[in-house]
Amino acid sequence: MKGKNARRVRVGLDVDGTLAYSQEAIVDEYNLRTKGSHTKEELDSHTGWSMPITDEEFSELHYTLWKDNWERIRPAVSERTLKKLVDACDVRLLTGIPRGCGDGLRSWLGSNFPNIDMEIEYVISLREKPYLGYDVLFDDAEPVADEFLKVPAKGTRLYLIDQPWNKRRRYEEESDRITRARSLSHGIDSLLSELQRG
Ligand SMILES: [Mg+2]
Repeated sequence: MKGKNARRVRVGLDVDGTLAYSQEAIVDEYNLRTKGSHTKEELDSHTGWSMPITDEEFSELHYTLWKDNWERIRPAVSERTLKKLVDACDVRLLTGIPRGCGDGLRSWLGSNFPNIDMEIEYVISLREKPYLGYDVLFDDAEPVADEFLKVPAKGTRLYLIDQPWNKRRRYEEESDRITRARSLSHGIDSLLSELQRG
């Protein structure tokens, strides 16, 4: 970064599928209910599943998971890794999690990242995310990448975190402002080394 007075880079950090392994927990719960043995790999789209789960079931599982069973959701990075990002940038959570799950989300954050305090910005549609003034987004969702390609602002960047549901399109080949990262941890390292190079 350029000098002490330079504006801090604003980072919008997605939760489901980026900071949190919530899809894994949803599939686990679905398997318990149906005595199935599905895997996350079957979630090949955010809206059309190859496993026999409906959008309504998925949304219901997602809601109750964050509201009542957030302990089952594993974080994608350690507090130490997230702290590196928070120390270097102005990081906010930017999430489509329903506001009604806010208490669960805050409890999950307090449990997994007790020494990190981040504001939460809720969006109704994931497609809003590229237009909210963030310099950098970390996200896993195809709709975010689709919309990002339409954003004219040159300065913005998207780190697309590898997930089974975002691999159909090679976004990173369509824009030099999109970097594909095989995990959030790799994405954070990539951004931080870029900022250090200035
Ligand atoms: Mg997500």
